[in-house]
Amino acid sequence: MNILITSLISFAMTYTMPKLPYANNALEPVISQNTIDYHYGKHLQTYVNNLNALVPGTAFEGKNIEEIVATAPAGAIFNNAGQVLNHTLYFLQFTPAPTQKVPTGKLAEAINQNFGNFENFKDEMTNAGTTLFGSGWVWLAMNQDGKLVIIQEANGGNPITQGMKPLLGFDVWEHAYYLDYQNKRTDHINQLWNIIDWEVVANRM
Ligand code: MN
Repeated sequence: MNILITSLISFAMTYTMPKLPYANNALEPVISQNTIDYHYGKHLQTYVNNLNALVPGTAFEGKNIEEIVATAPAGAIFNNAGQVLNHTLYFLQFTPAPTQKVPTGKLAEAINQNFGNFENFKDEMTNAGTTLFGSGWVWLAMNQDGKLVIIQEANGGNPITQGMKPLLGFDVWEHAYYLDYQNKRTDHINQLWNIIDWEVVANRM
């Protein structure tokens, strides 16, 4: 009996919301409180709730988010785990008061090496977000050779499914910007560059 109880407890894992390191209105005017209330408070909460409802009793019980996203087949568990991971990375990469406007150190070096310079990288990433058709994500990721690449992912995709490290992710689902920018996705992406915490991004390398 004791053994059974212990094993049940050790396999239980609850997926939780990331705690925002800023107030819901702190990213205004780039991202409004209204958008944070819905995007973080409703959309992300729903993905977390769905995942907690879906995982028990499956082969993914006891696995962390990254493991699930890296190994789950297409379907509801992958979709919800992907969106929990994506939004956790997304919301934690922003700050209302960036201490640096551009990357520095090893991240700056890697960007210069792979994209020529920071402005080129910004243009390529913005363009990738603008041209992604439908709902999805655009990522700056580090591949297995240590090279930085920009990749587009449909729906809840994440670079870790290709063995890459996600460094910076832009959510281009309409729910990320429609309340503030309506159909103007590019305007939204252009504004996002003003609230990125480059230290957080560099620490993901
Ligand atoms: Mn989203």
